[in-house]
Formats: sequence, structure tokens, C-alpha cells
Amino acid sequence: MNLEKLEEALSTPPTGTMRALVLEEPGRMSLQQIEIPHPGPGEVLVKVEAATTCGTDLKAFLRGHPQIPMPGVLGHEYSGIVAAVGEGASFAVGDPVMGVHSAPCQECYWCQRDQENLCESIMSTKVLGSYAEYLLVPARIAQLNLFPKPDSISFEKACLLEPLSCVAQGVELLKVREDSRVLVIGPGAIGLMFVGALRLSGAREITLAGRNDARLAEGKKLGAQTCKVDAIPGSYDIVIECTGQVEVWEKSIDYVRRGGTLMLFGGCPGGTRASFDTKKVHYDQITILSPFHFGTKAVRQAREWLLNPLLDLSGIISGERFLEEGKQVFEDLQNGAGLKYVFKPQVPGLRRS
Ligand SMILES: [Zn+2]
Ligand SMILES: [Zn+2]
Repeated sequence: MNLEKLEEALSTPPTGTMRALVLEEPGRMSLQQIEIPHPGPGEVLVKVEAATTCGTDLKAFLRGHPQIPMPGVLGHEYSGIVAAVGEGASFAVGDPVMGVHSAPCQECYWCQRDQENLCESIMSTKVLGSYAEYLLVPARIAQLNLFPKPDSISFEKACLLEPLSCVAQGVELLKVREDSRVLVIGPGAIGLMFVGALRLSGAREITLAGRNDARLAEGKKLGAQTCKVDAIPGSYDIVIECTGQVEVWEKSIDYVRRGGTLMLFGGCPGGTRASFDTKKVHYDQITILSPFHFGTKAVRQAREWLLNPLLDLSGIISGERFLEEGKQVFEDLQNGAGLKYVFKPQVPGLRRS
């Protein structure tokens, strides 16, 4: 045990208030002092070392989100150090940890049919609030989906466990072969993670299509060929749509070969509809998949990928920010200035120049 860890272990559980970034309503955020939570049985209090932004948070900031209550502390991607544990939790104070923000019940209709991602209570047990100095991880999540973080990966990279678990859920459904020709549309953080994950899964020929040259260049580093979205060459065994735009959902099917698979990964706003050429779907026998969230198997797969030094996702994180800069960060994301920012909630600070 090193000195830092020993000091942590000897310290008493934190009490009092902490800084937390609260989304009050779409477009309005404030940094507030709120009570540090106290862990109950099986719960784990994590001192948040890093918390990354996500497209879901941006959606909540822009127009609200059905799964994100307001006002409330935002953030669901995190990593940190255990600060206190409730009775029966299987972690110790001072342990570096990485985790996701939900866990299935493993008992309901869906869980018993190998569809944990659709568990009827997966959303009701989720934890939000990683844009704060401390995060309380509920017992079910601490038990199933919270893991030790080895020193070999940074707190920043460990934060990517949640979005990469979504990607793993998708990859699990695709029958990727070495000779699969894969097209990924949309070079955002998710599209780029798909490129990295597909490479690790053995796909040799991956094309990433998009508009933004800098993001396409990141895709190249991760092992994809790149092209402009309006000049996609040929047709593919697997097409993965990662933009969440209805027009792109509809267009994506044009790039799927006969007998191929279309994965519609980016969620579109509720109430929207997409239409496809029925002849193409039927006579070309297109398999359409649209996975949501993730089960425990995908989380474990994602963790294995993250621990693999061959997967370098550093280009996905656009910079470090203080909690004090919250609103600016989301305005920057809205303007396409960055892919993902990482908050360091333990470091108080003002906007850097
Ligand atoms: Zn996320
Ligand atoms: Zn369930």
C-alpha cells in the first residue's frame, strides 16, 4: 500500500458539503454546495477523480432528457477512489475504481432472457451526479458493475467504461468476421470507439464516414479508412449508424450489401419516424438491429478492451475542465468544439485563459 492510499484508508468518511454541477433546466447550470451523501448498506461513496461528458448529457442540456431529472446533478461517466463504504460492500477505502451508472436486476422477464440491457428496472436504479466531488454508487451497481481500476489505465480512460459498454452491446450483436467490410457513419466519440472496438474484435476493413476532417483523422489513427459522408464508396457487410439523425437512419440502408446488417445505433428524438424501401429490406434480406444501453456481459467486454494498451482512446478526450466551467463546456460541445471533455471535480478552479 503506498502512502497516498494509506492516508486515504486512515481518513474518516467525508462529511459536510461538496461542489456539484447542477442542471436546473435546459441551458441553465449552476455550481452548488450540496450535502456529501453517506453510504448505506452495500453502497460505495466514490471520490470522483474524473468524469467525462456524454452526448446524453448534451441532449439534457439542450432540450431536457426523459431519463435525467431536473434540477439534478449531471454526469454519469466517472472513475475515482473509494472514500467510504456501507456495510457489506466489497470495496475498501482507498481503492481506485471504475464503473458504469446502472445494473440489471438479473431476475425480471428480460434479464432471464439474456436481455439485461432491457431490464425493467435498469433505469430506476441508475446513478447520476458524477459532476461533483463525490458520487454515491447504489448497492446493486456496486455489486455488479463497479470494478477495481488498475494503475495501468488513467482515470480519464477509465471513465470511458460506460460509453464503451454501449458499443460492446452493439458489437456483441454483430457477427464480426476478419473479412467483414464495416462502415461506421458518424465520427463522434461513439463512432470512433466503434472503430477501435471493431479493430480489437478482428475486423480488418473498417471505413469511417463523416464531415469533420479532424475527427476523421482520429478514426484513421484508430485503424479506419475514411471518406466523406456524401462520397461513401461501395456497399458493406455491416453498416453502423452513429449520428442519431433520422435522415441518416434512412440513408444508411443504401450502403448495406445483400444479406448484410444495418445497426441503427444513434437514438433519434422521440416521436420521429424512419422509412425504408421494403423491397431492399426483404429481397436483400437486410438484418436491422438497434441496440440500447448494455448488460453486464458488455460491461465486462468493454473493461477488457479498455485495459488493452492497443486501444488508445486519448484522442477522444478533448481537454480537462473545471466544474466551474460547466455551462461553457456544454456550449462548446453544442458548437462541435470538442468530442468529450473531462471534469476534474477535485480541483477547484476558474476558467483558464
Ligand atoms: Zn454516457
Ligand atoms: Zn431485470
